[in-house]
Amino acid sequence: MRKSLHGIHHITAISSDPQANVDFYSRILGLRMVKQTVNYDDPSVYHLYFGDAVGSPGSILTFFPFPDAQAGKVGNGQVGAIGYSISAESIDYWVDRFSRLGIKFAGPFERFGEEIITFSDSDGLPLELVADSNRAGQSWSDSPVPAAHAIKRFSSAALLVSSNGSTAELLTDILGFEKIAEEGNRQRFAAGSSDDRQLIDIVVDPQGRRGIPGPGTVHHIAWRCLDKDQEDWRKTVAKQGYNVTSIIDRNYFHSIYFRENSGILFEIATDEPGFTVDQSELELGSRLSLPPWLESKREDIVRKLPSLSIGTKPVSQIE
Ligand code: ZN
Repeated sequence: MRKSLHGIHHITAISSDPQANVDFYSRILGLRMVKQTVNYDDPSVYHLYFGDAVGSPGSILTFFPFPDAQAGKVGNGQVGAIGYSISAESIDYWVDRFSRLGIKFAGPFERFGEEIITFSDSDGLPLELVADSNRAGQSWSDSPVPAAHAIKRFSSAALLVSSNGSTAELLTDILGFEKIAEEGNRQRFAAGSSDDRQLIDIVVDPQGRRGIPGPGTVHHIAWRCLDKDQEDWRKTVAKQGYNVTSIIDRNYFHSIYFRENSGILFEIATDEPGFTVDQSELELGSRLSLPPWLESKREDIVRKLPSLSIGTKPVSQIE
């Protein structure tokens, strides 16, 4: 069998207000903040992780919030819309929930035979709910969204590029994804096994503007691999001429990074050791977690970070 990565591990985006991240992703979308930590390269900035009950690979959207940064612009050379999987029976629930909470959305409409609703977070990050009934992942028991309608993990992600070719080849010939469909300027690739599949779309727009990094845009997308395979993946990517980093310890996973030819930053991250390496499942996200090498500076780091209200129950001004 051809070697293949196991789909999306996590996606990391830039935001402005960390509190707005918590309010939107936990209180409106019903995801669990499984980890609050800092950017290891700049501990004055939070790094917030939202996912399913345990932060399963394939469910994790993370943010670097820069409260004073100028908004970015989504465009070519970036990941565009991020799709979350919901049950086909949940479309009405989400239409009603968004309407009630004043979240602007479009749809439902159909793409590749699936119903989708499109919307954005408070920074304008493009998101979609996709009724693909992929039930992988564990819903979070304290979620304000009932388990039957819960978002558990990503359905898909779009890669925005200005020309066809090299990105598609990278996905199929090197990363091992399978091209399964094409509709207009959108090509669709499948990753993972058939009962645990995620979809990657390449959207080609030669006239599209180039993305500008900043709040409301994706910083990078990470693909999944096992620890034992990571060095092989590093060698495979390097052999194809990509400038790939050595393996970096991200505390919850190990990572390598490289930029594909359209400019999108790719990471390959391991499933191991996961988010329970420094907190029990019950405690996930309940306090600031720091890696061993920053723990001695905790007081100083906490003083410089904006305060964050992480109450898990919906706040009265939202519901
Ligand atoms: Zn990452």
